[in-house]
Amino acid sequence: MSAAIAGLHPSILREYDIRGIVGETLTEDGMRNIGRAFGTIVRRQGGSRIAVGYDGRLSSPMLEAALVAGLIETGAAVSRVGLGPSPMLYYATHHLQSDAGMMVTGSHNPADYNGIKMLLQGRPFFGPDIQALGDLVRRQDFERGSGQAEERPVAAEYVARLVAAMEPGRALRVAWDPGNGAACDVLKLLCARLPGTHTLVNAEVDGTFPAHHPDPTVESNLEQLKSAVREHGCDAGIAFDGDGDRIGVVDSAGRVIWGDQLLVILAKAVLDELPGATILADVKSSQLFFDEIERMGGKPLMSKTGHSLIKNMMTETGASLAGEMSGHSVVAHRYYGVDDALYAAVRLLSILARSSATLAEMRDAMPTFVNTPELRIDCAEQRKFEVVAEVRRRLKTIPGLNVHDLDGVRVSTPDGWWLLRASNTQPVLVGRCEAKTAEGLSRLLGELARQLRMSEVDPEALQPYLA
Ligand SMILES: [Zn+2]
Repeated sequence: MSAAIAGLHPSILREYDIRGIVGETLTEDGMRNIGRAFGTIVRRQGGSRIAVGYDGRLSSPMLEAALVAGLIETGAAVSRVGLGPSPMLYYATHHLQSDAGMMVTGSHNPADYNGIKMLLQGRPFFGPDIQALGDLVRRQDFERGSGQAEERPVAAEYVARLVAAMEPGRALRVAWDPGNGAACDVLKLLCARLPGTHTLVNAEVDGTFPAHHPDPTVESNLEQLKSAVREHGCDAGIAFDGDGDRIGVVDSAGRVIWGDQLLVILAKAVLDELPGATILADVKSSQLFFDEIERMGGKPLMSKTGHSLIKNMMTETGASLAGEMSGHSVVAHRYYGVDDALYAAVRLLSILARSSATLAEMRDAMPTFVNTPELRIDCAEQRKFEVVAEVRRRLKTIPGLNVHDLDGVRVSTPDGWWLLRASNTQPVLVGRCEAKTAEGLSRLLGELARQLRMSEVDPEALQPYLA
């Protein structure tokens, strides 16, 4: 079944969020029905207060209006926080004590996409929750009521909250690239109030993303940031994705501080205050993370990949900090346990301001492994989970092999480890290999390539690393 029912195309109901192509799979009619269904869920749980925000995409104001119209019909009381990054909306739900929040955003996707991220009672709303929402639309099973909406901007309060988290220390020079995304306006307010010298590039909201794709985990998107860091002699460069829930960091030499390395730096400050704290990293993370957290007296745990899954595991384990290779950094220590890239940036700057070591020195002090970045291996949507299951079955027949199958397979060998998992959001398999030596890495890559070929998947994405 692929046809839209009540304006709702089934393909838009995804694992972690709602996402589609504007005017094709994601329509005003569909948004209104999503509003009716989500409002119904909130009302039936005894709530009524819903905060709604939207990102800088051209289609976002129109989609937000349709969504709010649907919410009001269920009797909900809607606080419209307006244009800003996803974490500002997350902040609003806590600050305004809302029962739920909805963020109209296409995150880092191409300009013709848009979607919604949701939270309910402070928890991510995803997986079966989203399917249940789709069922309400299909059945047109909605609460009726006369709700209302008020404009409730929170940018000034949000920025004040971020500024309050900055700790005193030496003055820093920082370059920023919000990628013309939704964080631009609050970032400008933030930089005006933070100590130090700040250089901003691509800081005007532009839903066509004229400078580069707003995804800081793709290194080519960090070129302008690296140039700005070099030109202005900055201590660090910081980039955000399109909706400000993911961070990218470069040091003074323009080298990328990857998600797991950033997490180690953020964790040290948390563990100084909370010895023994639990810190989570996703299954793609380096052994560096697990070794360093243990060395610093913390409790490292491995989580599935996916910002909703990691936030839920954080609640379940009482973790103080969590992060992903993708740049989601979630701080629960002195904050709300949401993936707020601006807050993570302030925590990083606080650490740098107080430290005698530079960010580059912190990076150089970390034990080195030879590893690949995240390898994205094209694989048909309907095959990707099967391929991982096939690989898992073959590995199970190898006696004594150490396979961690929390999310895909993460295979440990004397050389290091390799990972293969299916993306929950794209038609790709994700791989990563890490070893102590270059020869070890070749062996791991060779094994991953062999497994892919056995399942008739082209291992071409591994070629650049197979020396
Ligand atoms: Zn995002």
